[in-house]
Amino acid sequence: MAKWVYLFKEGKADMKNLLGGKGANLAEMTNLGLPIPQGFTVTTEACTDYYNSGKRITDEIQTQIFDALSELEKIQGKKFGDTQDPLLVSVRSGARASMPGMMDTILNLGLNDVAVEGFAQKTGNPRFAYDSYRRFIQMFSDVVMEMSKTFFEGILDEIKEAKGAKFDTDLTADDLKEVIAKYKAIYQEKMGEEFPQDPKVQLMEAVKAVFRSWDNPRAIVYRRMNDIPGDWGTAVNVQAMVFGNMGNTSGTGVAFTRNPSTGAKGIYGEYLINAQGEDVVAGIRTPLPITRLEEDMPECYKEFMEIANKLENHYRDMQDMEFTIQEGKLYFLQTRSGKRTAPAAIQIACDLVDEGKITEEEAILRLDAKSLDQLLHPTFDPAALKAGEVIGSALPASPGAAAGKVYFTADDAKEAGERGERVILVRLETSPEDIEGMHAAQGILTVRGGMTSHAAVVARGMGTACVSGCGEIKINEEAKVFELGGHKIVEGDYISLDGSTGKIYLGDIKTVEASVGGNFGRIMEWADKFRTLKVRTNADTPADTANAVKLGAEGIGLCRTEHMFFEADRIPKIRKMILSDTVEAREAALNELIPFQKADFKAMYEVLEGKPMTVRYLDPPLHEFVPTDPEDIKALADDMGLTPEQVKAKCDELHEFNPMMGHRGCRLAVTYPEIARMQTRAVIEAAIEVKEEKGYDIVPEIMIPLVGEKKELKFVKDIVVETAEAVKKEKGSDIEYHIGTMIEIPRAALLANEIAEEAEFFSFGTNDLTQMTFGFSRDDAGKFLDSYYKAKIYESDPFARLDQSGVGQLVKMAAEKGRAQRADIKLGICGEHGGDPSSVEFCHKVGLNYVSCSPFRVPIARLAAAQAAIAESRQ
Ligand code: PEP
Ligand code: MG
Repeated sequence: MAKWVYLFKEGKADMKNLLGGKGANLAEMTNLGLPIPQGFTVTTEACTDYYNSGKRITDEIQTQIFDALSELEKIQGKKFGDTQDPLLVSVRSGARASMPGMMDTILNLGLNDVAVEGFAQKTGNPRFAYDSYRRFIQMFSDVVMEMSKTFFEGILDEIKEAKGAKFDTDLTADDLKEVIAKYKAIYQEKMGEEFPQDPKVQLMEAVKAVFRSWDNPRAIVYRRMNDIPGDWGTAVNVQAMVFGNMGNTSGTGVAFTRNPSTGAKGIYGEYLINAQGEDVVAGIRTPLPITRLEEDMPECYKEFMEIANKLENHYRDMQDMEFTIQEGKLYFLQTRSGKRTAPAAIQIACDLVDEGKITEEEAILRLDAKSLDQLLHPTFDPAALKAGEVIGSALPASPGAAAGKVYFTADDAKEAGERGERVILVRLETSPEDIEGMHAAQGILTVRGGMTSHAAVVARGMGTACVSGCGEIKINEEAKVFELGGHKIVEGDYISLDGSTGKIYLGDIKTVEASVGGNFGRIMEWADKFRTLKVRTNADTPADTANAVKLGAEGIGLCRTEHMFFEADRIPKIRKMILSDTVEAREAALNELIPFQKADFKAMYEVLEGKPMTVRYLDPPLHEFVPTDPEDIKALADDMGLTPEQVKAKCDELHEFNPMMGHRGCRLAVTYPEIARMQTRAVIEAAIEVKEEKGYDIVPEIMIPLVGEKKELKFVKDIVVETAEAVKKEKGSDIEYHIGTMIEIPRAALLANEIAEEAEFFSFGTNDLTQMTFGFSRDDAGKFLDSYYKAKIYESDPFARLDQSGVGQLVKMAAEKGRAQRADIKLGICGEHGGDPSSVEFCHKVGLNYVSCSPFRVPIARLAAAQAAIAESRQ
């Protein structure tokens, strides 16, 4: 028979997967002989079984729960439901990873109309007993039965008013009996049955509620944001009650062994005299700093400090502890590794290494790679954020906090930026013509578009906060107004965005600038020591390149050459090239473009100082570049000697039903070889010149995108080789260069061995590969993915986190096939997944040579790569 329930004394710290974090720690503290109210844990497997059994707790599990309860009765010397001296318990959820989205605690479970009388007599404190019962009814109704708290708060307020009571504590036992009668009446009215009087029914309902809470919407969102699998389940902890509200020698509090915001050493926390845990959390009364306990109850404080130190030394990590003092006796209710800000995490990791408590490897493993975002981007001031009103949320497309005035066009945003205003650019979706407005903005909010949409990719590159795909917004760009969450926002109104959580706030929330201290450098140094994966960056401009190199990039893994033409003075030229219909006209347009490109390549080679750069040839889905603005159309018409109508007609001719699968990538070079010719000239000339001028050892890497067939690659490659050799000859140079391809079409992955005959390297373009493998658009998936999360079909956005079981198989297979054909083939990834920690771990396991990601994610990738290498070495 499986074991579904463990007494605290039967568990251990390393049983987290089965007992959840809280359960494992309660067991460990019991083993350490600390003062822990005893109890038992219903396992995470019981939770999984509950779901597998059609949301039912089987008889076997129920029997084991009641058996454990009997054992607890023996330990405590009290009986559950006893009419004289009842055993009361708390019920709490506790998953492997602590999860704020889940069920709140239920206290005082086990009371009923009869037991409360005995409890009043036994404690000699009727007021306390009835208060405990009314709190229990309220919590049970709210947390287990999901009745609104407002019913109960209303009743309490009414009675307080009728009795002339200012605080809850002014109510007498008799007043509280009245409250209880009314609570029970409203329960009966709303639930259609009496408030459960059988403590075992109360207990089983509470256990079920904890299991159910694993799947509530808040928990699902939290899991998706934190990469927690849906099949882990939560454990339930049932623990004997101790009371912090038994008078002035009782109290309750929470404390951290180090400051969770800054990481500074020293106890940090607060407590309330004569209170239960919920009073601290609810913020009804103002708690006192923990150090005051030394004056109020010196003995307790001494014992508390000894145990706190013992726990930190035992777990070798900063602890977050809950405690209660019942009539002068101290109890610990739980301990766990404390949640902390990113700066605190780094400070604590370094301090623990310096104190000799953990190794550098352990320090690396403990950090949350994703949270490094907080160090590199502005964040909201925590106090200001608490007061902020969330009006909506969407995809966390580019991290950082931003607050500013709303503008609806790139031009308005740019002008406002020039006036010194802080700007939030709000668009239906962005396109290359918005680039300058995007540059001017602190934050970008779009109605459409996924994690790899134009707005998301460009914002991440620039390090600007972006929330994308907020379909709930009703926008009227012309009238310069949008509606969201019942609010109407017009041009010039303030809103705030959190690009790390996807939340949108009303008003101007104070932000705090990023600051990277010396400890960050230490952590990165350690990470570099352990990792085997190289980390490159996706950068298209000299400025982004310089920034990425500062953040530790070891080269460029993807230079999207079309992005070089986004600036206002360049975009008309690429449009002219796209709209030209003769080879001569196209070559003329290209001749105007190439000097810009060559100059950028040169500047980037200079910044890179010999580090490699993979230049990806033109790939744009053409719809991203065709002009839509009448002024742009007119300007282009003038430049090309055409009428605006003729330009419009040409744009119409270019219309594609499905541009993402249309005339883009290497298909452009197959139809217009002159594009590849011109780009080759720009790359090779730039490389030769910088090599000669600066002496760097430059070996250009030329990457042909969207290949699905060896012959297609060969066709373009021949053009590249012919041109490169001609340029070398002209310049008298013997420069080497490599030609490779992206693997971003499933067919290329399937035939990777053939493709490797022509390709010296592969870079996995997992944005397109995901799009084409799933068969849904990277720009539109946001519209329906939410329904997929709700229906539990998918748990996370496959454009943000690599789908290892599907797309990952293609990556793994293509890597193997590529290596089988060409043993020294270089393998990398340059889709957005290159900066996602779980995807980086996958790339490590598959044996890629490098990952490439946007500049601000380079430190995340360095840390994640080190974590993957350390984890592997420990297996
Ligand atoms: C990709 O498809 O993964 C990629 C990196 O290319 P792009 O996003 O430019 O299509
Ligand atoms: Mg692509």
